[in-house]
Amino acid sequence: MARKFFVGGNFKMNGSRASIKKIVEDLNNVDLPSDVEVVIAPPALYIHCAKELLKNLEIKVAAQNAFPKPSGAYTGEISAPQIKDAGADWVILGHSERRTIIKESDEFVAEKTVHALENGLGVILCIGELLEERDTGMTLVVCNRQLDAVIDKVKDWSNIVIAYEPVWAIGTGLAATPEDAQSTHAEIRQYLAEKLGEDQASKIRILYGGSVNGKNAKSFNACPDIDGYLVGGASLKPEFIDIIKSRE
Ligand code: PEP
Repeated sequence: MARKFFVGGNFKMNGSRASIKKIVEDLNNVDLPSDVEVVIAPPALYIHCAKELLKNLEIKVAAQNAFPKPSGAYTGEISAPQIKDAGADWVILGHSERRTIIKESDEFVAEKTVHALENGLGVILCIGELLEERDTGMTLVVCNRQLDAVIDKVKDWSNIVIAYEPVWAIGTGLAATPEDAQSTHAEIRQYLAEKLGEDQASKIRILYGGSVNGKNAKSFNACPDIDGYLVGGASLKPEFIDIIKSRE
């Protein structure tokens, strides 16, 4: 089954009303390829504004985090129903910056995933190893452990997109080589097949994330298990459109 190519833009804690308006207007003015699903993730404060400005309704909006409760005394957090109410359809969970800086555990990410799915959000589930884990041959052990926490709790993965983001490649300018990324993606898919069955595994999109830019995106075109990108820094720049169009 063909997996629709997916390009996500993670703006992280960047932007202002003016800069996000500019990014959305640039996206509105482009003929986007119909075979690419595009999702932008502005900071939560700007989800509603991005959604209102988007004229191309095929472009969806994501939050960058969601707390696993619908409402309550959780100061500073945002809930999946609130994200939906603001107009977003997706949420990024398990990003390495939240795993490492905010110290989110695999179990907490899994709990958030369950809650987001139950509330009708698609989940962009980030996994990936640190440099020292890669250097000690632990890449798959780490990715599989991060996946296991979610596999234990979720059987239907049709609304989950996995983003494999080696932490050493995020924001460093040092993207994984297409060969390395393809080989890890294939191993992740093999693991999913063992745990969830061949059929489900063949349908799950696995994005690559880590220093993808307008120049290197095309180099991953021939990788059969790379189903798109999660883009950080370059999603704030005009080259995001080159990445979206990189398969043309
Ligand atoms: C990210 O933060 O998800 C990411 C991939 O960042 P960058 O593209 O800047 O490496």
